[in-house]
Amino acid sequence: MSSTIAELLSQRNRLQALSDTAALDTELLLCHCLQKNRSYLRCWPQVSVSNEIEQHFLSLLARREQGEPIAYLIGERGFWSLDLQVSPATLIPRPETELLVEKSLALLSAYPRANVLDLGTGTGAIALALAREKSSWQVLACDVEAQAVSLAETNRRNLALDNVVIIQSDWFKAITKQCFDLIVSNPPYIDREDPHLRIGDVRFEPRSALVADNKGLADIEEIIVNAHAYLSDQGWLLLEHGYNQGEDVRDLLQQGGFNHIFTNQDFASVDRISGGQWRCAE
Ligand code: GLN
Repeated sequence: MSSTIAELLSQRNRLQALSDTAALDTELLLCHCLQKNRSYLRCWPQVSVSNEIEQHFLSLLARREQGEPIAYLIGERGFWSLDLQVSPATLIPRPETELLVEKSLALLSAYPRANVLDLGTGTGAIALALAREKSSWQVLACDVEAQAVSLAETNRRNLALDNVVIIQSDWFKAITKQCFDLIVSNPPYIDREDPHLRIGDVRFEPRSALVADNKGLADIEEIIVNAHAYLSDQGWLLLEHGYNQGEDVRDLLQQGGFNHIFTNQDFASVDRISGGQWRCAE
């Protein structure tokens, strides 16, 4: 006798200890297995599911119980207005990273056309969100990992965005000199010893996308030191960073010769992004 939707959802208790969103997680896994949305689960709690779907659901639930992130189990995550495919080869896009998109749009609001570079694009989240908002902008996105480049390209194709080019590059190494109006990045910035790396979703994400030397600042510094050669006069550099790195990043921007330096906070009211403008007179 196969189980009903309501019976399968009652297994949410298995996730209680692990997740603050046990009921939602369980629904998302079942939606994924059924290829239906959450309203369907509400409308049809007494419908029986096939044995095959039940087995698939139970196997995903067991993996979730071991801590695997929902986004990797269902292979997708929403970011900005986009549905993105994700894989364990890249970081899972975070809501706080949408602040980079918001600020990029605000900084370049007066530019009908803009050339933008997204360094370490991962799923392509930032580049694709900007390209979707501004069809007249040209966006170049890069990642050092071949698997990330191919995932970002899949997302680009699925979204039919033809104003984005995605290439493999270790930061600026494969970028030919161009005058970008904006360079934006969510680089790795977590300290190797940070205890947060031992809890939650980050345990399953690629270390190379999370962790940087020099208390998490090494990649941020590399980007800041090299960016000016790729920025147009008055071009902006905009970076995500850790909650406690705002002051360090502002100092690095200042030492690097940037002006109009700022930090913005995310919805949790912690420092999350900083930026500056290249060589613009005060
Ligand atoms: N914000 C992420 C976290 O703290 C890390 C993202 C990153 O390193 N770029 O989990």
